[in-house]
Amino acid sequence: MIPVKGYAAQNAKAPLTPYSFERREVGKNDVLIDIHYCGICHSDIHQIKDEWGGSLFPMVPGHEIIGVVSQTGSSVSKFKVGDRVGVGCFVDSCRQCDNCHEGMEQFCDGGMTLTYNNRDRKTGDLVQGGYSTKIVVDENYVLRIPENLPMDAAAPLLCAGITLYSPLRHWNIGPGKKVGILGLGGLGHMGVKLAHAMGAEVTVLSHSLNKEADGRRMGADHFYATSDPQTFQKLNSYFDLIVCTVSAKIDWNEYMQLLKRDGTMVVVGIPEESIPINAFSMIARRRSLAGSLIGGIKETQEMLDFCGKHNIVSDIELIPIEQVNEAYERVVRSDVRYRFVIDIGSLS
Ligand code: NAP
Ligand code: ZN
Ligand code: ZN
Repeated sequence: MIPVKGYAAQNAKAPLTPYSFERREVGKNDVLIDIHYCGICHSDIHQIKDEWGGSLFPMVPGHEIIGVVSQTGSSVSKFKVGDRVGVGCFVDSCRQCDNCHEGMEQFCDGGMTLTYNNRDRKTGDLVQGGYSTKIVVDENYVLRIPENLPMDAAAPLLCAGITLYSPLRHWNIGPGKKVGILGLGGLGHMGVKLAHAMGAEVTVLSHSLNKEADGRRMGADHFYATSDPQTFQKLNSYFDLIVCTVSAKIDWNEYMQLLKRDGTMVVVGIPEESIPINAFSMIARRRSLAGSLIGGIKETQEMLDFCGKHNIVSDIELIPIEQVNEAYERVVRSDVRYRFVIDIGSLS
């Protein structure tokens, strides 16, 4: 077994504290990765606080992992020692169902193995995430990081980046399309950068105008405050697509009115409550309400290569791991510009 240092919560009420544990030995298809950076996703906080139910403890969160390969198993063909690699939200899947065969492992019929807060599908052991010094992952679930991207700011691409890239691609976003990004946080700011690079007209819908200069610098053409009732009049029936990254309670019917005929509202934020929608919000103008979940390995690599080509990374605040609990509080207060990334060097 491989000894690893990390930070874990022992239960849903506990803060993250230093925690030593072991990773499995490097199997023939595995790579051992020395983790350099790990982003803090709001999903880490939902799970640590058991806001979705069923959380498994002790929990080492983290699924925006970037590091360097330090050992490879005998059958590994895609990576070699020294490669810059990433790991996102899942580390395994059944590999047999239609979704896995079609490269959409996130929808695996047998359930993907999440990077943490889950059990290894062979051994049943708890799996642990990237707030730690090393991870062992099957090479088929490892991503290659383009050479021109800085490793720290590229870490959030592994979850925030793919979570926005996938719906933008699925709904054919490009020139001539009007996209609304609801919530300018970790996910939202990646959505602005990606939709802009795809050639769409991008509008940010944020609580207030406080982040307007940042949003425009990232590529937004327009910026509106949702606290201003006039926003809803001005943008009535305006968008082809809105991607909602907010995890708080909002008035969904009000936002559905902002879609034009055949427009789609894509839910990616995960609030605790269910989403109440009035039938008229959808049947008027044939609008759709849809959801999207991260992306498969093939599409995540495509997203990373797209970001390499367009020089897209996250706007980050790099922190030592001792500040992780404080960073969580700031994320919950929407006080993050725009993603915290943990410098894993601070663990050793
Ligand atoms: P985040 O950085 O906290 O950003 C969320 C943004 O939502 C905030 O910056 C804020 O933007 C807005 N917001 C927060 N509270 C609000 C409120 N009370 N009313 C209106 N707007 C509010 O979080 P994140 O990491 O981007 O994650 C967002 C959500 O997506 C989380 O629920 C996370 O679990 C989920 N998620 C889903 C997937 C998926 O595959 N579907 C993947 C990753 C994460 P403004 O200040 O601009 O209003
Ligand atoms: Zn995430
Ligand atoms: Zn499967």
